[in-house]
Amino acid sequence: MRKVTDIQTLAQGVQSGDRRALARAITLVESGRADHRADALSLLDTLGTARSAMRIGLSGTPGVGKSTFIESFGLMLTAAGKRVAVLAVDPSSARSGGSILGDKTRMEHLARDPNAFIRPSPSQTQLGGVARRSREAVALCEAAGFDIVLIETVGVGQSETVVGHMADLFVLLLAPAGGDELQGVKRGIMEMADLILVNKADGGLKEQALRTCADYAGALRLLRKRPQDPAEFPKARPVSALETEGLADAWADMQSLAAWRREQGVWEATRRAQASYWFAEDVKNGVLDHLQADPNIAAQIATAEAAVKAGALTPSAAAAQVLAMWKGA
Ligand code: GDP
Repeated sequence: MRKVTDIQTLAQGVQSGDRRALARAITLVESGRADHRADALSLLDTLGTARSAMRIGLSGTPGVGKSTFIESFGLMLTAAGKRVAVLAVDPSSARSGGSILGDKTRMEHLARDPNAFIRPSPSQTQLGGVARRSREAVALCEAAGFDIVLIETVGVGQSETVVGHMADLFVLLLAPAGGDELQGVKRGIMEMADLILVNKADGGLKEQALRTCADYAGALRLLRKRPQDPAEFPKARPVSALETEGLADAWADMQSLAAWRREQGVWEATRRAQASYWFAEDVKNGVLDHLQADPNIAAQIATAEAAVKAGALTPSAAAAQVLAMWKGA
């Protein structure tokens, strides 16, 4: 167990914006060791929640241009005097095409910028674990005084939902596509988006990008879901991450939506709802971890799950069996 003074020193380092201290603090919250966990909780408690950043979820399938976008967008923000942190939510089960999120070698200039901090995704297989660690990493970046936290995710569904529960704004990056491919975007992800950016709107792809953008704008009108937002949102716009075209407009959109939500009280209300969601998730996961720690119970859970999958037991009956074990544990 680390000494209390060490935690305090680490907390001071984080609060002073020291990126190495921040990196160490994130390593601590990512650790699965019980003593590290206790230290992580004490660190998070010491840091509190006084500082807050704009948390932007950014999703897109591999190859759409996320790294290029983060590099250009991040540099634009740091040039405007903002401090930008980039985190990735990427359960390794969702990793595809060998693409690593938050890969510093693909954001070379931003990685060297003293006003930026990039953290690649931890190699975790369980979405629950990834979620908690990412959320705590966001809190650490906020305590370190970052103005904007970009939370990058891979665009496959589950991890978006997780990011949706920790972001203030959600940006979906898409590539120019033919009409048919529009159907390929998962409806759930479309519904989460506040802003759709159709990337690669440059050179020979520009016209196609503009057409795609108009298609998505039409699709968004049919999906519109947040009556409390201004009528123009959710919005689709073309950008070129490579040529840094449209990025300032995209940022202006994000700022205007953020300002509107703050004014309407939606911003705070969403954060409070997210906090209570994570509280419930942590309790659920804690109970499950506690049960799984007993090898006998873990084996019975696996048997019950197999029975559910095979159709031999209803989900309710199997869950009741597991909960009965908990009461006995
Ligand atoms: P990621 O996998 O989503 O992170 O995508 P990358 O940022 O690695 O980009 C994938 C490919 O698309 C690379 O070859 C980039 O150079 C290219 N690319 C990214 N943004 C743009 C853009 O705005 N215009 C064009 N033409 N190509 C782009």
